[in-house]
Amino acid sequence: MPKTILVTGGGRGIGRAVALAFAEPGHLVAIAARTRAQLEDTADAIAKRGAQPMVLALDVTEERAVADGFDTLRAVSPRIDVLVNNAGIGGGQPLDKTDTASWRRILDTNVWGTFLVTRQAVPLLGEGGRVINMSSVLGRFGVAGYTAYTTSKHAVIGFTRALALELVKRGITVNAVCPGWVDTDMATQGMQNGAEAMGLTLEEFRRRALGRVPIKRIIQPEEVANLVKFLASPEASAITGQTYNICGGQVMN
Ligand code: NDP
Repeated sequence: MPKTILVTGGGRGIGRAVALAFAEPGHLVAIAARTRAQLEDTADAIAKRGAQPMVLALDVTEERAVADGFDTLRAVSPRIDVLVNNAGIGGGQPLDKTDTASWRRILDTNVWGTFLVTRQAVPLLGEGGRVINMSSVLGRFGVAGYTAYTTSKHAVIGFTRALALELVKRGITVNAVCPGWVDTDMATQGMQNGAEAMGLTLEEFRRRALGRVPIKRIIQPEEVANLVKFLASPEASAITGQTYNICGGQVMN
């Protein structure tokens, strides 16, 4: 059956891999982010797989832009089957060195943006609908220097649990995914920041960081996409309000 899937942050990284995983003939795959060129590139790749792409160039933190994006989507598809709230930003600084604007920007994007998009999507979801929210292993534990990001990713799990109970009567499931280090621009930037803070080269920081991961390697975006796709499948209909780690054994609860 043709489905409509919306992936925020679908222009690159994990979101792009998720969007491509859903790009099957007959499906409409809408992708939302700020950088139009990256969205267009992902849209081309979606079309090559036989699905219908839709580019929504918007900032998830802007209420009006999100509402306009949903107007565009609704005009083509009055129903959404799967929402993947993946758009997010990283970065961090010790609390005493953090400026209020960047702390707020992280919360706005990762939490407020997730709320704004989900609020628009919920009325369009039908029986069997799926919401999958991208948290992080930093939704499972804290890291010094990352108060905003850690707070935001814990919040995504709380949001997931409460919303799962709100939507259960409509046959809609809501789950969260917590990746460890995934091979994307965000991880490279995070490793670069860590290397600078510790006076290490990027290569040395990466070697040490991945050395602490039990599987001793970085995770590929497609591996996260496979988990998201399973959670979106009919086979996952008994799973709701749950949080899945995909972190090579970094976290075990
Ligand atoms: P990238 O930086 O590669 O991609 C992030 C995506 O989110 C981009 O498409 C970006 O597009 C979009 N985005 C960011 N801000 C906004 C905004 N305000 N409005 C709309 N879109 C936005 O990161 P990843 O792919 O690595 O991360 C994806 C998700 O996975 C994030 O939520 C991240 O926190 C999470 N995660 C990543 C991990 C990793 O190691 N990579 C580990 C754990 C979790 P644009 O900038 O064009 O708007």
